[in-house]
Amino acid sequence: MFKVTPVPAFEDNYIWVVHNDRMAIAVDPGDADALIGFLDSHQLDLLAVLITHHHRDHTGGNTQLRQRYDCTLYGPDNPRIPGIERIVREGDALHFPELGLDLEVIATPGHTLDHISYAGHGYLFCGDTVFGCGCGKLFEGTPAMMAASLDKILSLPDATRVCCAHEYTLDNIAFAKTFDGDNPELLARESSDRSLRQQHRPTLPSTLALEKATNPFLRFHLASMRPHAVRYLRREPVDDAEIFGAIRALKDRFDG
Ligand SMILES: [Zn+2]
Repeated sequence: MFKVTPVPAFEDNYIWVVHNDRMAIAVDPGDADALIGFLDSHQLDLLAVLITHHHRDHTGGNTQLRQRYDCTLYGPDNPRIPGIERIVREGDALHFPELGLDLEVIATPGHTLDHISYAGHGYLFCGDTVFGCGCGKLFEGTPAMMAASLDKILSLPDATRVCCAHEYTLDNIAFAKTFDGDNPELLARESSDRSLRQQHRPTLPSTLALEKATNPFLRFHLASMRPHAVRYLRREPVDDAEIFGAIRALKDRFDG
């Protein structure tokens, strides 16, 4: 069996490492040095790198890691990503018998057009698609595209552990409270996640069940979300994707 460990990098990134006592796979190693420090201290060899999308804080370690380890780099079909040897697409299955790990690729465009996620064994490595109580900014995709990606994630089992690429949970909870401040699960999450952060521990992985209960960006189908979309749009939304888009726009405004 394997363990799944978030390795902090830069200010608020996590490089997710799936490993046993010999081998490791890393998701989105934007900072090679942070990952190498972890691998060295646990005496691990790097078997593969999985990339979710082209942003530099997710891919910046590729070249250095490829030089240092005999590892294979998997990622989406985007020539801007350095070093990808195996292009993967929705529905592709990846097998890593060394770790007893099988992952399925899910296309999750929205944050970027090339964004993919990896799911298997009750884990979801979703890059910048879902964050703790939040979701990625729409840099390249449309609200409808991102809403469809989130619907795919919503179809995974509730117990799925959601491994996000940034520690943004407390900021996202502050936004969620502006319109869901009576939600007891959100308030409970705030107090437990605040205490984790005070101890410099990650708030992640969360579970899909917790995200469904607290994350406004996974709750856009709920009737209770519609009034907030109306407030932003100043008219009735035409569909749930437009409700999602309005909540995302409210978050952008909240962030200033
Ligand atoms: Zn990104």
